[in-house]
Amino acid sequence: MQNILTIDLEEWFHANYHDDVFDPHKTYEVRIIQNTKRLLALFAEHQAKATFFVLGSVAEQHPRLIREIAEAGHELATHGYAHQLIYQQTAAVFKEDVSQAKKRVEDIVGKSVIGYRAPSWSITPKSIWAWDILEELGFVYDASVFPIKTYLYGLPTSPRFSYHPQYNGRTLNLLEVPSSTVRILNKKIPFAGGFYFRALPYPLITRGIKTVNREGHPAIVYLHPREIDPGQPRLTLSPKENLIHYYGISGCEKKLIRVLKKFKFTSVEGYYGL
Ligand SMILES: [Zn+2]
Repeated sequence: MQNILTIDLEEWFHANYHDDVFDPHKTYEVRIIQNTKRLLALFAEHQAKATFFVLGSVAEQHPRLIREIAEAGHELATHGYAHQLIYQQTAAVFKEDVSQAKKRVEDIVGKSVIGYRAPSWSITPKSIWAWDILEELGFVYDASVFPIKTYLYGLPTSPRFSYHPQYNGRTLNLLEVPSSTVRILNKKIPFAGGFYFRALPYPLITRGIKTVNREGHPAIVYLHPREIDPGQPRLTLSPKENLIHYYGISGCEKKLIRVLKKFKFTSVEGYYGL
């Protein structure tokens, strides 16, 4: 059974725990090229294909890197332009941010971008209007929903597996591909990416993927290039955010390699034949 591998293509400082984690006008050390090339090498070695949700500002700065990802046969999708939380934007600002970002990637690869993932899973009960705008902008799927509730994100009423969302009494054509969870004691527990992937031991991650596969669905694994980079500079964060952002980074690449060896991965587009 195929699973789905996704990378949010952003820099080590693109975080939204609070408003001023990073200054969009400041110049920071570039780490994304070396980290992404390392991911591409690992994916090639293990015959894995992925979807890269590219931040528009990253595409603008590193068009060669985006071309390289496309030439390696991966899917290019968008992660918005400036990594701002949707639920803090107006619909008009969101629409402008996403159309800019979509166009940046399309201009580089010469192909339509059909997928979107929100910065920090920010399609929440306050911002489901975003689905309607994504459909209007020509997106075929969205992968922005975490079907749980955390202090930063989550749409707890969301189904666990892909579906066409309802908006204003209408079923959208847009396909929602929510992040993977397993059901334990009637709770949805994340395991397949980011902090959860870094924090959980390898046997629990494989058990999670196998459980989702037994239910007839692909697991959606997600990572960021910075998560395999123990040498990155450190952001000033609260102790809780520091833990979420950096826990387990030193062992993450090794764990990823084990997962790539054990399971088959493709892109969202490849899995659903979009
Ligand atoms: Zn992001």
